[in-house]
Amino acid sequence: MSAPATLHAGATISVSTLPGVGSRTAAAFSRLGIGSLEDLLWHIPHRYERLLAEQSISEADGAAADGDLLTVRGELAAVRAIRAGGGRPRVEATLSDGKSTLRLVWFNNPWIAKKLHPGDWGVAHGKCSRFRGYLQITNPQWTPVQPDASETALADARLRPIYPTTEDIPQDRFERLIAPVLPTVPTLLTDWLPEDERAHQSLPTMPEAMRMVHAPATPQEADLGRRRLAFDELFLLQVALAMRRWQVRHSGAAQAIGVSPQVDRAIRARLPFSLTPDQDHAVSEIVTDMGSTVPMNRLLQGDVGSGKTAVAVYALLAAVAAGHQGALVAPTEILAEQHARSLRSMLQGASMEWALLTGSTPAAERRAILAGLSDGSIPLVVGTHALFTESIEFKSLAIAIIDEQHRFGVSQRAALRAKALLGAPHTLVMTATPIPRTLAMTFFGDLDVSTIRHPPPGRQPIATRVVGFEKSDEVYRYLRTRLDAGEQAYIVVPAVEESEAGLSDVASTVERLRATHFAGLTVGFVHGRLSADDRDRAMSAFRDRRSHVLVATVVIEVGVDVPNASLMVIEHAERFGLAQLHQLRGRVGRGTAKSLCVYMGEPTTDDARRRMDVIGGTLDGFRIAEADLAIRGPGDFFGERQSGLPPFRVADLMQDGLLLEQARAAAGRRIEQSPHLDQPDERFLRLAALQRYGSALGLADVG
Ligand code: ADP
Ligand code: MG
Repeated sequence: MSAPATLHAGATISVSTLPGVGSRTAAAFSRLGIGSLEDLLWHIPHRYERLLAEQSISEADGAAADGDLLTVRGELAAVRAIRAGGGRPRVEATLSDGKSTLRLVWFNNPWIAKKLHPGDWGVAHGKCSRFRGYLQITNPQWTPVQPDASETALADARLRPIYPTTEDIPQDRFERLIAPVLPTVPTLLTDWLPEDERAHQSLPTMPEAMRMVHAPATPQEADLGRRRLAFDELFLLQVALAMRRWQVRHSGAAQAIGVSPQVDRAIRARLPFSLTPDQDHAVSEIVTDMGSTVPMNRLLQGDVGSGKTAVAVYALLAAVAAGHQGALVAPTEILAEQHARSLRSMLQGASMEWALLTGSTPAAERRAILAGLSDGSIPLVVGTHALFTESIEFKSLAIAIIDEQHRFGVSQRAALRAKALLGAPHTLVMTATPIPRTLAMTFFGDLDVSTIRHPPPGRQPIATRVVGFEKSDEVYRYLRTRLDAGEQAYIVVPAVEESEAGLSDVASTVERLRATHFAGLTVGFVHGRLSADDRDRAMSAFRDRRSHVLVATVVIEVGVDVPNASLMVIEHAERFGLAQLHQLRGRVGRGTAKSLCVYMGEPTTDDARRRMDVIGGTLDGFRIAEADLAIRGPGDFFGERQSGLPPFRVADLMQDGLLLEQARAAAGRRIEQSPHLDQPDERFLRLAALQRYGSALGLADVG
């Protein structure tokens, strides 16, 4: 591939080639992520100030909005230095042009009073606002002029761009540096958006768009320019995702798995309940996908406790019934162990072999399992995803199911498939974190989606309380009454061991509760540092009701399913993220008993307080996910590292949802018609997509 050099010609031209940019400015730019002229152009203003042409005071009074930059001239009528008790010292003056007046106010600038005399003429320039309906300019620039001077101080209205910066770079410096670069945009940036697409979307060309965002004539222009740049980013990712989707679909043969009515009946007979309509619907979508040699590539999303596992088990058993193999991959050992337990009970009495493979599986057993998978004598395996990072061979793997997908990013998924799942089987990924639609399209845009909206019948809403630590006694006393009535409780704490931060930890919480409120009850515990055996013992004691209380770290966050446990207390809840708080709460409310979840903590930051408000205010996972996205921003929602994708520079998933849908539709149409992007006007688009996303998404260059 030689073309990237032409694709990003600008990347090689450093900002330090600009006149007046020395090593200090270059260093400041580099801390803003700006190294090249291209970076500088893509560093776009986050807002604009309206700079109004010089006008009379009465015109200004009619036209100006708060925050506009006004230029007016007139005669100073009164000048007062004011030092009101406690307030900031200020200087006030009245400016009059004979017809109207406005007020000028300077804060913290007492010496300006010496330069201002009643009767002086001058031009005032600055940001205006209204104070009790009266127009004023705060901290204006003041330029003395002759009363009869005729030339205007500022002839043209314009928008002044304001750039995001954490550095000590004056705003007008950005403007002055960018202005001379704008005319070179056609040679500096490759416009890889095909002309027909640009026209179809009614977007400006790249040079126009850059001019519009950096030097707009109107706010509408600034919007349109930004829209073009955001579209470029969204479209490029969607094109890459569509290519990947196309490549997966055409990667050749998955096993076509037929499900006869007999098999369907046999599988359902193994499930301990009948499927809900939502589960049925998901199953039928999956069965349709699996019936084809085009590999299934589907996301199953449903809130915590919505019953995704049964759907997964159906798909696995269908593959096995057809004489092939199935694999279920979980992010943690606890979860893998739990899936194994449900399989064990469902497969009781069946002659089918299956295996559990995790990091704790002894070497000899592991070898036997690997042998069984490769000769086909073990048709079904449950394991942690570590399982798939090393060489593992299947005789005929038909389906891989990846549980709790929010733990894996797109690129890990690609790696999984590439490394371990050769032969392109059907893939089903499941997530218990409802993903806001915009993010689902961004990060899982190459997947089909099935959704379980309604939980199984008989669920009671979980009563939720958010309390401070002073309520601790009261909470645990109340819990005791319910424990005595036969219920079970999780107590979640942030730390495993005592630490300097003074957080509740597993060991001392167990000790404390055994000695006080829970005296005489059996209190067990789990955390990530226990051996698999100890963890297993603690989990099964709790499941079999031999222990009443389980003190745990977030290791129980995903998937753990003990329907009789109906009480949960989370200590230091302010330390946990919203998704975690919601996942944790999902451990209760699984049976038919009325459940209670108490979030105990002392939020000290605004974000922590907002998290507490949200979690205490709703049980709806989708609303919580939206709020989480709003509080953290999309970058952190998955974590950039986790998503494995380069971040956007202009597009904003919070505000560009509609644009994203347009970009997705356009990308889908294009790849449908031109899967290899081999039309002449698609050459740069293909190169850009491969360059930016090729390795993260495992794209093959088949152009
Ligand atoms: P998740 O979607 O969080 O993985 P699970 O699959 O663990 O949810 O299911 C949550 C609980 O609901 C489990 O106890 C499971 O046995 C139960 N469940 C699932 N489907 C049904 C159903 N159709 N009817 C009754 N209970 C169900
Ligand atoms: Mg689950």
